[in-house]
Amino acid sequence: MARRRVDYLLIGGGLAAANCARWLREEGADGSVLLVGREYDPPYNRPPLSKGYLQRKESREDALFRPDDWWAEQEIELLTRTTVTRLDARERVASLSTRDEIEFDKALLATGANVRRLRAEGNDLNGIDYLRTLPNSTTIGADADRAERVVLIGGSYIGTEVAASLTAAHDVQCAIVMQEDVTLERFYGPEVGGYFQRVLEEHGVEVHGGQELERFEGRGGRVAKVVTKVGLELECDAVVIGAGVIPEVTLARQAGLELGEAGGVKASAQLESSVPGIFTAGDICEYDSPIHSRPMRIEHWDVAFNQGKTAALNMLGRGVEHTVVPYFFSDLADWTGMEYVGPGSGEVVVRGSMDEGDFTAFYVDDGRVTAALTVGRSDDLEHASRFITERPQLDPAALADEGTDLASLAR
Ligand SMILES: Cc1cc2nc3c(=O)[nH]c(=O)nc-3n(C[C@H](O)[C@H](O)[C@H](O)COP(=O)(O)OP(=O)(O)OC[C@H]3O[C@@H](n4cnc5c(N)ncnc54)[C@H](O)[C@@H]3O)c2cc1C
Repeated sequence: MARRRVDYLLIGGGLAAANCARWLREEGADGSVLLVGREYDPPYNRPPLSKGYLQRKESREDALFRPDDWWAEQEIELLTRTTVTRLDARERVASLSTRDEIEFDKALLATGANVRRLRAEGNDLNGIDYLRTLPNSTTIGADADRAERVVLIGGSYIGTEVAASLTAAHDVQCAIVMQEDVTLERFYGPEVGGYFQRVLEEHGVEVHGGQELERFEGRGGRVAKVVTKVGLELECDAVVIGAGVIPEVTLARQAGLELGEAGGVKASAQLESSVPGIFTAGDICEYDSPIHSRPMRIEHWDVAFNQGKTAALNMLGRGVEHTVVPYFFSDLADWTGMEYVGPGSGEVVVRGSMDEGDFTAFYVDDGRVTAALTVGRSDDLEHASRFITERPQLDPAALADEGTDLASLAR
């Protein structure tokens, strides 16, 4: 066992930790930086795993956060395939699966999230996959190549994106089975979710709403059928489950860091945890959002990216609050795509045409925009972000009216 000291220890090899490392260096940190992640691959972007990489339009290298030699150039020590097994927050020492012990000055805890696993009879059959990592995506693509029909369990963004990618690029029949009545309705409501469901169905994806999974049946050890509680039976050769994620707080809990109501690591607006000098970012971070005036934990790529930067700045003592409006994007193959700022809820006010796939849906609560989703109108999001931050009282009719210049509203 060896014991050594670093200035900055970044735990978790995902986007939040990677971008934190980058910004430490860009902002002039000259101390030692060690990034420890337990995956086989160096930090990479997950969005292509359900989109371009799964469609084989993008390579593994395209998905990487930075090329392999960048880490050494930046003098960032990168330990992949290494787990931080214990964190002593008071003594500021981390134990690694390599049996090394690392003393640190400042740390970032960015251990991300794990997939939510479903318990159902037959769930250990071959051909039932979850999607979180690069190897998962490779396996799903290979399974789809051998399949005539793939069933997606879950009608959220993993289920819908994977159904679109497999249909478009692997020439396989896809069927979505979900608890909700309409795809994506839990995030965006039935009206907006219905737009995405129509696009999926127009491209041949079967959608079965209001269904609760009962069991999987197999043949020769491989999944062959999905059966739901009301008796829907779908023959298939592979299954992909997208049932949400759970923040990976094992280490945080062991270290005694305070956890929040949404199950993440509680953090201030500066992303500092309950232990001074230990910061958090990304899918596990439950921060006191100055924009929303309440604690938020958000599982978006862009949030992990920007929080990694905010954490880096605060590790350098800059004292900045995380005030970026959370942004999300999703694509259904090259059929349609959306961008979203929020999160928020309220009455849906549509500007443009859903039938033509060219619209922005504003979510308006008590005259204030809390969120917005756009298909094909990225510029609207800039205005929506301003409305979310400044919280002006707006007339829904003016938002919906294409004749209104959004830039002029509430100025
Ligand atoms: C298939 C897919 C598609 C997505 N598409 C989109 C999209 O289109 N738009 C969007 O906004 N978001 C998307 N997301 C979500 C986005 O990718 C995540 O919000 C983002 O990756 C979170 O980054 P993170 O660094 O917080 O966590 P993670 O990416 O989960 O990284 C955390 C890392 O820490 C490692 N780790 C955990 N515990 C330890 C430990 N004890 N020691 C060492 N390492 C540890 C984990 O193995 C993991 O590698 C997608 C996610 C997936 C899976």
